[in-house]
Amino acid sequence: MLSNDILLNAAGRFGTPLYVYDEAQINIQYASLKQAFRRSDVKIFYACKALTNVNILKILAQQGSGIDCVSINEVQLALKAGFTADRIIFTPNSVAFDEYLEATALNVNINIDNLSLLEEFGNHFGDGYPVIIRLNPHIMAGGNIKISTGHVDSKFGISIEQVQQIRDVMERTKVSVKGLHIHTGSEIKDLEVFVKGLELVLETTQFFPDLTIIDLGGGFKVPYKPDEVGTDMEALGEKLADAFEAFQQSSGKKFQVWFEPGKYLVSQAGYFLVRANIIKQGPSRTFVGVNSGFNHLIRPMFYDAYHKITNISHTEGELKTYNIVGNICETDTFAWDRELNEVRPNDILLFNNAGAYGFEMSSRFNSRCRPAEVLVSGDAMKLIRRRENLEDILQGVILD
Ligand SMILES: *Cc1c(COP(=O)(O)O)cnc(C)c1O
Repeated sequence: MLSNDILLNAAGRFGTPLYVYDEAQINIQYASLKQAFRRSDVKIFYACKALTNVNILKILAQQGSGIDCVSINEVQLALKAGFTADRIIFTPNSVAFDEYLEATALNVNINIDNLSLLEEFGNHFGDGYPVIIRLNPHIMAGGNIKISTGHVDSKFGISIEQVQQIRDVMERTKVSVKGLHIHTGSEIKDLEVFVKGLELVLETTQFFPDLTIIDLGGGFKVPYKPDEVGTDMEALGEKLADAFEAFQQSSGKKFQVWFEPGKYLVSQAGYFLVRANIIKQGPSRTFVGVNSGFNHLIRPMFYDAYHKITNISHTEGELKTYNIVGNICETDTFAWDRELNEVRPNDILLFNNAGAYGFEMSSRFNSRCRPAEVLVSGDAMKLIRRRENLEDILQGVILD
């Protein structure tokens, strides 16, 4: 955990709005996964869409992690960070075959989630490029419908009921399937969702003779609200190890298990700092208007997500109730009726748990610049992305 002093120091040095990341916390999260899954042959692939600054990717590369990429550009960033191709999975959705070809040219692991693409892939490569298949297990799970990806009406994956069609494609094209993948959603606390998903996948393994990998995706929950608890990783590690061991005894088959956590690895490591611009007393509410908005942190508006917010400039101030709003010309409310130590103009407000899907989902809406990013490593504090300026906004625009 970074102290308020360190965070205020960062805000003073680099200005606000500002994202600050704590390297130690990322390493703690990674180590806790290795510990929880120690009984199984597990490999972790960081789902990097949560936070792709190459300096962050390098931390995980050095830890020995693999990486899960959902676009060809993420694959390029992963290579830049030092991940070798065998430690990269390419898990896109709704992309054209061309993008798969680009990924195969880079020799990364390929995850296919569509029957017609599997056929195209098989026709092109035969058994020369073994693939992973993303199955849709028809499980409803996750913190919000927008982040549920494994239910029957989800666009993701090939229905687990279409295993026979997959087999037909394998028969026709000789495509070799080395892995089966599911990712049911984000913020899953209920361990039974993972156990059920695994059971469903294990039932289909008999149809895939070349199978060596089962990839159970990501979606571990981290606590956002003060009284919330995250996924119990130790308990999950035990349950899954039991399930795999039982399966091995009955079938004689052993698999490598892959996970793709995004949020779990980087959420708690991230802090978002903004400055109070105005305090507005309305007839029924007091607003704090800050120098940011959903252009910098969209989760509260997009997912109704809760972020803990504190006034780190005035921690002894009297508690008052505020609506914390942004400066975008839309109703961009970060929090309703939130108790904070009295906020004065220019106070620095801290948003916790901002490492995942924070900066990464930021935009330049309202022609405002995106924030800077800073990495704290032990005693060192380093700018890892400079603040944007008007020139960045104009870059790429063609003027006569
Ligand atoms: C987004 C995503 C993840 C990570 O989800 P988290 O909730 O951040 O853990 C894992 N795998 C795939 C395929 C994804 O799209």
